[in-house]
Amino acid sequence: MQATWQSAIERAEASGGKVDDLEYRVRCKDGRTLDLLIGDGLIATFTDITPLRRAEAALTEAKESAEAASRAKSAFLANMSHEIRTPMNAILGYAHLLKTSPLTPEQADRLDRIGEAGKHLLAIINDILDLSKIEAGKLVLEDADFSLGAIIDHVRSLIADQAAAKGLAVQVDYGDVPPLLRGDPTRLRQALLNFAGNAIKFTDAGRVTLRSALVADDGDALLVRFEVEDTGIGIAGDKLGDLFQAFQQVDASTTRRYGGTGLGLAITQRIARLMGGEVGVDSRPGSGSRFWFTARLGRGRIQPTLADTLRPAADSAIRHGHSGRRILLVEDDPINQEVALELLSQTGLVVDVARNGREAVECAERTDYRVILMDMQMPEMDGLQASSAIRRLPGRQATPIVAMTANAFDEDRERCIAAGMSDFIAKPVSPELLYGILLKWLGPGRP
Ligand code: ADP
Repeated sequence: MQATWQSAIERAEASGGKVDDLEYRVRCKDGRTLDLLIGDGLIATFTDITPLRRAEAALTEAKESAEAASRAKSAFLANMSHEIRTPMNAILGYAHLLKTSPLTPEQADRLDRIGEAGKHLLAIINDILDLSKIEAGKLVLEDADFSLGAIIDHVRSLIADQAAAKGLAVQVDYGDVPPLLRGDPTRLRQALLNFAGNAIKFTDAGRVTLRSALVADDGDALLVRFEVEDTGIGIAGDKLGDLFQAFQQVDASTTRRYGGTGLGLAITQRIARLMGGEVGVDSRPGSGSRFWFTARLGRGRIQPTLADTLRPAADSAIRHGHSGRRILLVEDDPINQEVALELLSQTGLVVDVARNGREAVECAERTDYRVILMDMQMPEMDGLQASSAIRRLPGRQATPIVAMTANAFDEDRERCIAAGMSDFIAKPVSPELLYGILLKWLGPGRP
């Protein structure tokens, strides 16, 4: 049957929009006439898609503003961490230095409390930063050889004092995991320490066991399970589900009793996921808990560096191997300057001080320093500009320049490296880390 375009539409309307095997004739603008067939089952619909287009535009706008909000959040966190870490640097630094002077037992005790509170505050700031770094997809895992024993022993040593104070036994079981692994040792230790710290916190009697086990072994690719078991208060079944979410705690009264931020488990879960693993927990109220996570790791080949073993004695190694050698400290804040100078005075190094980047470049022009410790945010010329300028000076291409920064983001590290800096130390500068990094760049020194 033939029909005109008009009658085709009428027929379609009459049959509720359905058009079956319908021929119709159209006259084209160039005068030709065409017969067209509308095929079986075609439904011609005219839909007003203005709302859809509007919704799409709104979505794009929402996405852009979410991205802007996330950038603002990152910038806020970077600034906040800088603002908090700078005074923390002074608090922890002075507490450390005061302890080396003669004190009454009461003063020593109070100083310990200041140190502990400072470290706790710093741990909270670090947790918040870590979590937001992970959520923003900005945490890049390291890929390094390390020893399993060193990680588990380190965690054990960090909880040893608290365990002893509560009369808890700490047991270690390495299982059948190869002793040398490849992955991110710092983040693994952090993940395990979060579990181990909780185990001590929520256990009043009995023991805490740190355990590792090999789940899968595909030649070079290993799946390793880490576990912390305690004989503590345990957790009710209905609370287990949400525990790994940020800021989740079993109940407000435990928080008041035990303290904490509710971030530890969330961080461990994010780290395990980044490492291709999972987390979980089995627990019964009154009989204890077993928290575990898995991680995909490689097989390590190289024995961990000597530097790890040397670190505790780094200050004396510097005194013996490098005393009298000249380094440059670039720092504008007078308090941080004083703290760093005090710490460095124990190494026997000769320290020149520059108060901003411009002075640093002038000093580096005159003197061939063995190491330059460079603050980042300074008046007149900042650390990045100064480092680039020093690199352009004749004979200063290889001078180790170590950035000291209170900004905890990886982008800062990248910017430091791009400006020609050699290494990176986070503020507040811990004495052990400072001595360790100096020793690394000073080299083995005089025998
Ligand atoms: P925080 O310990 O700082 O509160 P976490 O994320 O590490 O934060 O832990 C969240 C909550 O999970 C804790 O507040 C506690 O209620 C519970 N929890 C964690 N580990 C244990 C454990 N070993 N035994 C009992 N409860 C635990």
